[in-house]
Amino acid sequence: MSSNPTSPIKRRVSQQSIIEWAGQVVTVGGDAPVRVQSMTNTDTADAIATAIQVKELAKAGSEIVRITVDNPAAAAAVPAIREQLDKMDVYVPLVGDFHYNGHTLLNDYPDCAQALSKYRINPGNVGQGAKRDMQFSQMIEMACRYKKPIRIGVNWGSLDQDLLAKLLDQNAVSATPKELNQVMAEALIQSALQSAQRAQELGLPSNQITLSCKVSNVQDLISVYRDLAVRCDYPLHLGLTEAGIGSKGIVASTAALSVLLQEGIGDTIRISLTPEPGAPRENEVIVAQEILQTMGLRHFTPMVIACPGCGRTTSTYFQELASRIQSYLRHQMPIWKKNHPGVESMNVAVMGCIVNGPGESKHANIGISLPGTGESPAAPVFVDGVKVKTLRGDKIAEEFQLIVDEYVKNTYQNKVSG
Ligand code: SF4
Repeated sequence: MSSNPTSPIKRRVSQQSIIEWAGQVVTVGGDAPVRVQSMTNTDTADAIATAIQVKELAKAGSEIVRITVDNPAAAAAVPAIREQLDKMDVYVPLVGDFHYNGHTLLNDYPDCAQALSKYRINPGNVGQGAKRDMQFSQMIEMACRYKKPIRIGVNWGSLDQDLLAKLLDQNAVSATPKELNQVMAEALIQSALQSAQRAQELGLPSNQITLSCKVSNVQDLISVYRDLAVRCDYPLHLGLTEAGIGSKGIVASTAALSVLLQEGIGDTIRISLTPEPGAPRENEVIVAQEILQTMGLRHFTPMVIACPGCGRTTSTYFQELASRIQSYLRHQMPIWKKNHPGVESMNVAVMGCIVNGPGESKHANIGISLPGTGESPAAPVFVDGVKVKTLRGDKIAEEFQLIVDEYVKNTYQNKVSG
C-alpha cells in the first residue's frame, strides 16, 4: 500500500495574491498550494534564449518564473518574450526583477509593464534618501495602473542602509542592546513591512503584496521568517539567498525551508542554486518540488524509493534500474498528469537485496526487490503489498517498466479511455 503521508502541517493564515495574465491565473497564499518558482539566468535582452529557458523551467514545473529587467534592452524584449511563450502555449506568469532603475524602465516601456504579470521590488535598491521614496512610489503607481501584484523582496546583501543605520543608533543607546545580527534581522523585517505599508497607502490593495526577506545563513533565515510570519498576513516567498553550488546549496536550502514549511510558514519557494557548469537550470525546480513532495505538502511526480546499496549487492544493476525508473516516471508525467490524475502520489520501490527489499516493496504501490550477491537471480515484484510476479533474465528493467505502465493505466482514472 502507498505510504504517502497525509500532511499534518497547519499552514499559517495569509491573504491570497492573484497573478493574472491573458485569462490565466496563479494564486499565491490563502488556500493555494505552496507554489514553486524559479528565475532565468539568460540575458533578458535575448528574447528567444530567455523564452526558451522560461519554457524549460515551466515544463519542469515552475509555476512562476522571474526574469531580470535591468536595462532598456531587457525591458524592450519583455513583450516579445511573453508573445513567444504564448505562441508556444507556455502558460506561466513572468515576474520582472527590478533594481535601481525599475521606476524608469516601467515608465519608459509601458508594453513591458503590461506584459509582466508581477513586479519584484527591492526596497534597498530603489534609490537613496529622498529619491528612494519618490522612486518607490513611482513603481507602486505603475503596479496600481497596470493592476499588477508585487513582491517586496528584501535581501541581506542590499539592505536599506539608512534604516539599518537608524536601528543601529537606537540599539547603541538601548538599555538592553541586541546582537548585530538581531538588529540586521529587524532591519530586514521593518524594511519589508514599512514598504508594504507605504504601497498600501499609495493605493495598492494589501492582497497584491507578497513579502520576502532573504538571507544566506540558515538559522538567520528561520529566525527572520518566524518573526515576519507573526507580524503580517501577506503571503511569504521563501528562499535562502546565495544558497551555493551542488549539494551544499541543496542541503542548506532544504534545511532552512523544511523547518519553516513544517511550521506552516511559506506560500511560494525558490531554490537559489548556483548551477554546476553545464547543469540544467531546471534543477532548482526539481529540488523545490522534491522538498515539497518529501514533506507531504504536494505531489508532483511519482517517487522512487531506493536503498543506498551495500556490500550485499555489489552489482550496480539496481542503481541503474532506480535511475532509469526515476527518469521514466518524470518523462511520462506530462502525459500521465493529463490522463491519469493522482499518479503523482504513486511510490515505486527499487531495492537491492532480500534484507529490506520485499518489506519496503510491500509498502510502495509497486516494488521490486533485486537479487543481492549470492541470492537466487530472481526479482519478486509487489503491487499494492501483494507479490504478483517474479522477474528473471536480462529484460527485468523492460518488464518492470511495463508493470508500472499497466498499474498506472488501471489504477488512476484514464480520461482518454474513460
Ligand atoms: S536492501 Fe540489501 S542491498 Fe539495499 S542497503 Fe539494504 S541490505 Fe544493502
